Amino acid sequence: MRLDAKNISFRYGNGSFILKDVNLFIDKGERVGLVGPSGYGKSTLAKILSGYLKPTKGEVLIDGKPLPAKGYCPVQLVYQHPEKALNPRWKLRDSLYEGLEPDVELLDSMGIEREWLDRWPNELSGGEMQRFCVARVLGEKTKFLIADEMSTMLDVITQAQIWNYVLQTVEKRGMGLLVVTHNHALADRICTRIIDLTGLNKI
Ligand code: ADP
Ligand code: MG
Repeated sequence: MRLDAKNISFRYGNGSFILKDVNLFIDKGERVGLVGPSGYGKSTLAKILSGYLKPTKGEVLIDGKPLPAKGYCPVQLVYQHPEKALNPRWKLRDSLYEGLEPDVELLDSMGIEREWLDRWPNELSGGEMQRFCVARVLGEKTKFLIADEMSTMLDVITQAQIWNYVLQTVEKRGMGLLVVTHNHALADRICTRIIDLTGLNKI
């Protein structure tokens, strides 16, 4: 399986273009780092790759076909801020089961306590909330995971723990991983290939 971004250009509304003619791919089983300075459009590209934003020009393809317009998206995104990914008015159970079949074995292996599911998002610590957010996008149908500054807000020990969970799952399932970060050292440590958005963007 291959995730392909072809000639992606993007601007918010009528603003100036942030991304111009960006091409990249991720193969199944690859761990690719996407690095670039802050404010350069990494998160925008991450949202385009996972179907949350429609590119102004260009397309995102999985094995040559467009991302599904509805139903479960095989490309899933983890954000920097887990509290923004969760609806504060929903119990965690409702967020978890939203549109996907959770992998019970995975929840157990990630230490997601059953009792958490009856809580509101603000009743977890930052690290627990991010672990929950990661678990909820690792449904069995997820083929590519886009981790956008996933661990930036966490202390080092919690960061290491989350990366362990993610890398184990990615490896076990043969998924593709895109690590979006301004932290080159992190990308070097985790990834099999690094791409620099400043070199891809023809802005
Ligand atoms: P990065 O993740 O590399 O820090 P972003 O993709 O978040 O960069 O942002 C790229 C640029 O797009 C920034 O100048 C930012 O201010 C702008 N931007 C981000 N989101 C929006 C939005 N919803 N509307 C308008 N501009 C935005
Ligand atoms: Mg960002």
